[in-house]
Amino acid sequence: MIEVLSPSRWPQAREAGALVGHILSTLRARSTPGTNLLDIDRWAQTMIGEAGALSCYVDYAPSFGRGPFGHYICTSVNDAVLHGLPHDYTLADGDLLSLDLAVSLGVVADSAVSFVVGGAGSPEDVAMIEATERARAAGIAAAGPGARIGDLSHAIGSVLTEAGFSINLDFGGHGVGSTMHQDPHISNSGRPGRGFALRPGLLLALEPWVMADTDELVTDADGWTLRSATGCRTAHSEHTILITEDGAEIMTVQPT
Ligand code: MG
Ligand code: MG
Repeated sequence: MIEVLSPSRWPQAREAGALVGHILSTLRARSTPGTNLLDIDRWAQTMIGEAGALSCYVDYAPSFGRGPFGHYICTSVNDAVLHGLPHDYTLADGDLLSLDLAVSLGVVADSAVSFVVGGAGSPEDVAMIEATERARAAGIAAAGPGARIGDLSHAIGSVLTEAGFSINLDFGGHGVGSTMHQDPHISNSGRPGRGFALRPGLLLALEPWVMADTDELVTDADGWTLRSATGCRTAHSEHTILITEDGAEIMTVQPT
């Protein structure tokens, strides 16, 4: 199902997006060496509750996971790239952490950020993170009324390929609305001019992700966390955007 939000619901989308941006920004600042992933999860739970929002993750039980997820945020460290299940792990200087959060205030917002804990990070890590951010920006720039899903996929995939990454197509972006995962699927690679034509009121999550030297995933023993098959490091960036009459508006901007 593809859900098109009536303009009366756009403020809800913006509120949910601002909340997700605020929580991710706060958690990023708190994710220093010595911080435990379970602390990050607990802080996420508290902030979601204080805002009167609902977690999209805690009861989430899709076919590909060992559900329900039972936590409030995905914490993927180093070789973990998607759906990282928070567990008793203390972050160290130089860890590459991805935080992925989705909440609902009647409308859902979904966003992910990757960063190096502590110091500046290696040039390889920084380049990989920036490639996912550039790909996301290219996808957003390609979005607007009349654009097709394939245009976004092509824009995202071109950046990732030019940066030297091979793209895993098992997981990508998606429609967002009253629920977290909706049609249309937005592959991280595709052909321009193909697919569903965008219209105002569509809410979309764009989420390029890469692994340094492989496109193969393995599932962790926890039944959720997806890791690179080679143990290489990984990155993931996601924004929820609203298609408007003029183009695309980013819902999940993080305050600086
Ligand atoms: Mg997400
Ligand atoms: Mg998503």
